[in-house]
Amino acid sequence: MSSTRNPVIGLLGGGQLGRMLCEAANPLGIDIAILDEENAPAKQAHSTNRHVTGSFKDPARIRELAAQSDYLSVEIEHVETAVLEEIEKHGVQVKQPDGSTRIHKPPIHPSWRTIRLIQDKYLQKQHFLDSGKRIPVAKQVAIDSAQHSSLVSVAEMFGFPYMLKARTGSYDGRGNFKVSSEADIEPALKALAGLDLYAEQWAPFVKELAVMVIRTEDDNGNLKSCVAYPTVETVHEDSICTKVFMPPRGVPVEVCGKARKLATDVVSTLWGRGVFAVEMFLLKDGSLMVNEVAPRPHNSGHYTIEAVPQMSQYKAQLYAVLDLPIPQTLSPRVPSAIMLNILGGATPSAHLKLVELARSNFYDMDVYLHLYNKQSKPGRKIGHITLTGCLPIETLEAKAKPFIDLVDEIRL
Ligand code: ATP
Ligand code: MG
Ligand code: MG
Repeated sequence: MSSTRNPVIGLLGGGQLGRMLCEAANPLGIDIAILDEENAPAKQAHSTNRHVTGSFKDPARIRELAAQSDYLSVEIEHVETAVLEEIEKHGVQVKQPDGSTRIHKPPIHPSWRTIRLIQDKYLQKQHFLDSGKRIPVAKQVAIDSAQHSSLVSVAEMFGFPYMLKARTGSYDGRGNFKVSSEADIEPALKALAGLDLYAEQWAPFVKELAVMVIRTEDDNGNLKSCVAYPTVETVHEDSICTKVFMPPRGVPVEVCGKARKLATDVVSTLWGRGVFAVEMFLLKDGSLMVNEVAPRPHNSGHYTIEAVPQMSQYKAQLYAVLDLPIPQTLSPRVPSAIMLNILGGATPSAHLKLVELARSNFYDMDVYLHLYNKQSKPGRKIGHITLTGCLPIETLEAKAKPFIDLVDEIRL
């Protein structure tokens, strides 16, 4: 890292995760150069003349970003990885003031290998199965040709229901289709037409859990540490995360401990530095199954901004990328926290009642409102509210009822 000026992290993607990363970077004197469209949410939160306008899938723009960055990182996994591999291996050309050029190789964290693997949800889970770390995942099968008969064969193997998924490019459940009976096969093929598909056995979960993990390694790629944040419960409705509870409601502490251990095992099999989210299913018998991993800050970790004193997931991402010291334990400052996503409602102003409520006075819990300055569209994540309290989670949930009711009302 250059000692004469602030370090520059080039970030592929400038949505709300990038925006909160910038909010963490600002008081630390870390410069973030964002590659995304003009005026993207993250660009609005960080002033620099280094932002690049364009797509995080465009190799030319990624090279332009790399040329002026000390490090490269991502806030979204759906980026172009071939060019990241090229930059790691061969660098980018940088023009010098005297007209000559030099080769510049900014370290990339997490590694393009991790990003490429995670982009394909089928290969991602195969990797966990092959890792030798006994990572439980749902049974899965790749679908070579998407047609009625292959989806019938899946049912013969897994039974109904099963989940048909796009291998790549999915988010907020948009590449998923629950196939409950043979009647769903045609609609599923239609909904996911043209995509590479695989099927997963249905996971009969009682709850979904998630754990953020900070992964550090040295510059030679040797793992230094994997440190887990507290386990949280995530609630998904229509495949989109709507609420997060810390700690999970009604889940024994031993299970939360097992989830953290599983999450660090999972992340230890990947490459590069940074924070990772491990999404899991909790089954009736108390066992866990890994759903998927996100190689970046994550919705389930928003609560760390206010609830984890050592560092938030955003500061952790910056510290990990820059190879600065990472705490070896991460524990909450409050007994409980709830994060509620503000999703765009039926009309552009449907969520405003919730914003108004968050600005009211509450005396027995802290209310933190985050708005991303994104245009409201139905179902789009446009902000979130974190509630914390010196109360057991069930009591905080009861106190948060007006918020939860409004979140549910806006969604409907
Ligand atoms: P994200 O926004 O988290 O990246 P995604 O589009 O990659 O989402 P998944 O995480 O694969 O989608 O699935 C979204 C949700 O669908 C899960 O959180 C879970 O609620 C449900 N789901 C996914 N796979 C299964 C399964 N095999 N069995 C039961 N439910 C599932
Ligand atoms: Mg996903
Ligand atoms: Mg997911």
